[in-house]
Amino acid sequence: MVRLGKMEGELIRSISKRPATVIYPFTKDGLNIPPGLRARWSYANPDMCTGCKICERVCPSGAIEMVECGPDDVRTKTGFRPICHFDRCILCGQCVESCPRDVLRLTDSFEMAFLSREDMVLR
Ligand code: SF4
Ligand code: SF4
Repeated sequence: MVRLGKMEGELIRSISKRPATVIYPFTKDGLNIPPGLRARWSYANPDMCTGCKICERVCPSGAIEMVECGPDDVRTKTGFRPICHFDRCILCGQCVESCPRDVLRLTDSFEMAFLSREDMVLR
């Protein structure tokens, strides 16, 4: 049987409190993104990349591929730069930790819905 007295108490308490949730995705106000969140991969600091391929070697899921620098890329010493096949990335952070030049980041950009696998190739 429903206990009305208890329900009324809850109702009165919740009226005076701020909502526990936010109406995401309509607003991002009030979102509590934890510090250190590992989300979208980023080739954040291309000027520093030497093309050494360490990130590719340490990636446990084979998500990083070294490709030849294109005309719009910063030219690295080896002429190669990493791209990330994000559909394979497990967000472990090994590439970020292992890069000797602080080039890579796992950002806190957590919106990671893509319309195709091609869109998941991050450059
Ligand atoms: S991102 Fe870092 S580890 Fe990867 S190729 Fe560039 S310098 Fe080397
Ligand atoms: S975060 Fe981990 S799985 Fe993702 S690209 Fe870097 S090393 Fe590979």
